Amino acid sequence: MQERKERDIAPACTTKNTTSSSPVFIGVPGSGHGMSGRQAMSRRSSWESRKHHYWSDCTGNSLRASRRIGHPAPPAADAQALLESWVLEQLGLSPDLSAHPFGVASLTCSAASLTLHLDPYLGRERHSFPEHCLHRLLPAAPAPGSGDELGGIPGLRVGGTEAGGRKLRLHMVDGLGPAQLTLALPPGLPETWPAVERRHRSWVKGHGMRPLWATPWLDYEESDYLDACLARARSARATMGSALLRRLALFHTSAAFYRVRCWDEGDTWKIDACTANPSTQGHDQLLQRLCHPRWGLPVNLAHAFCHCAGHESPYAWGHTCAFYLDGLEPSGAEAIYLRVHASPEGRDHDRQIETLRRAGAPKEWMDRAFPTDALQDHRGTQRR
Ligand SMILES: [Zn+2]
Repeated sequence: MQERKERDIAPACTTKNTTSSSPVFIGVPGSGHGMSGRQAMSRRSSWESRKHHYWSDCTGNSLRASRRIGHPAPPAADAQALLESWVLEQLGLSPDLSAHPFGVASLTCSAASLTLHLDPYLGRERHSFPEHCLHRLLPAAPAPGSGDELGGIPGLRVGGTEAGGRKLRLHMVDGLGPAQLTLALPPGLPETWPAVERRHRSWVKGHGMRPLWATPWLDYEESDYLDACLARARSARATMGSALLRRLALFHTSAAFYRVRCWDEGDTWKIDACTANPSTQGHDQLLQRLCHPRWGLPVNLAHAFCHCAGHESPYAWGHTCAFYLDGLEPSGAEAIYLRVHASPEGRDHDRQIETLRRAGAPKEWMDRAFPTDALQDHRGTQRR
């Protein structure tokens, strides 16, 4: 049984078991009775600024772009949320390290659409991330007799390209509701979507599978799979998955996790993160953002098991912190389980650093994710 440490983890959250923390709620604009016009305007401006910072951190867009986009975007409608929760499942378990969480550098969204700006490469070998995306997302019937499951998202279809082949438009087949996904290629990558799609199609056929992403109707293999999927695709779970996907940049901006994996287990989203800088600050900031009372997910931090060293102590390596976030719906079911591992990679992080550099991780982010003093401390600890 793990000993629970009560800490002031997420002051913006309403925690059930952290009695020491007092919820801090940010004021609502326009509520400044008795204030001068100038004070009210100043408070409103500060509020707007916080909002833009929040959504900039969530989406990976610059502050200027965030102001132009005009957040917050409305939450995804039902069919869109279901599609996005499938996207999170498919991209959440990446086979290798990528420069951004789940290979998505930034995103924009509306109630019935999502655009993902993709990383160019995946892992040390610099595999094409756009091609990996097609591999994970586009539906393909398994090779006869293989016993494999249907690959990709059932009912997802390619609608065409735009911006000179730089953006791929995807939608759900008729009858599965209005839902749109656009995949944007990173600037600097010379090839266009038609070339990536041809390569993927050739790979699928070469493995005896049947491409389904251009079929105008639902294939019988997809229908069978969908029946099984929809039975467990509760709307609360889909809504949470979509809301999480729309805030995925927080894993890099609020925390500096060099690897994040996410999957669905029952009705709980499991998030498994690795850090090379095991100070409490990283996960505390992330939890504050996820539980933000105004713009955060509909969750409460219910249980926290933190084993980080205190702020005045040396780094504490090799531990795991765990956080249980309950949904706000009446059943209060566990919605998210976040686990943060401090340095699970053994003696040093040279291989991770090299892989992330080759995958295109920005230098300023790498300096945050792998701070020199933490790495030196880690190596010193290993030698002792
Ligand atoms: Zn901790």
